[in-house]
Amino acid sequence: MLDKIYEIIYDDGVCSECQKYAGKFNEIPEHIPPFHPNCKCKLLEVEEILEETFEFLKNFEEEKSNVYTDTKGYVTVGCGSMFNNVKEFKKLPLYYENRLATTEEKEAEFYRLNGKRNQNSAFILDKVEAKILALEHLKGDLKSVRKKFENFDNLPKNAQLVILDMEYNMGSNKFSKNNWPMFFEAIKLKDWKTAGIESQSKDIQQLRNFWRKNILQSIK
Ligand SMILES: [Zn+2]
Repeated sequence: MLDKIYEIIYDDGVCSECQKYAGKFNEIPEHIPPFHPNCKCKLLEVEEILEETFEFLKNFEEEKSNVYTDTKGYVTVGCGSMFNNVKEFKKLPLYYENRLATTEEKEAEFYRLNGKRNQNSAFILDKVEAKILALEHLKGDLKSVRKKFENFDNLPKNAQLVILDMEYNMGSNKFSKNNWPMFFEAIKLKDWKTAGIESQSKDIQQLRNFWRKNILQSIK
């Protein structure tokens, strides 16, 4: 089992007075949100490794507050969270002109953007919700990699971080044993030097590849 933490996330743009209560805790904290009317802080229970993965992801994924489409025309929100159908997108608490957007508005905006490359939208998701979205996504990724890698929970932390990053970045179908045979084999053999070499993706920033290789090859 992986360690779990409790985390109070706050949005510094919205909730600066709640800053003193925000943070990470090993048990349910004494003061929990909401701390005042309209408080946007949230309490989350999350595996510590996912929180750590998120801290790295933030450096690599574009963190935008507005909805946009990526280079392939996928509707994207927050920390690289893609939406390929309108159903999930409509559930997001998106803001438009300083008020919550209606379901109809969100639906119309999704269809306006979907399939067009590099578009920006005036619909906004606040930082707290963007982080929750990314962590929810990572929870799904964790489930998935536990199936792909035997004993995932007992791998060194650096290997867990890279595997989660690759799953988050590529999605479950692309990141498979068939597509990445040498990487999967190296992890199985605990051959961290080879794993580092085999962790490289073609279509991502150099820095992200460098980070993957470095932290895998630094495992003792
Ligand atoms: Zn607050």
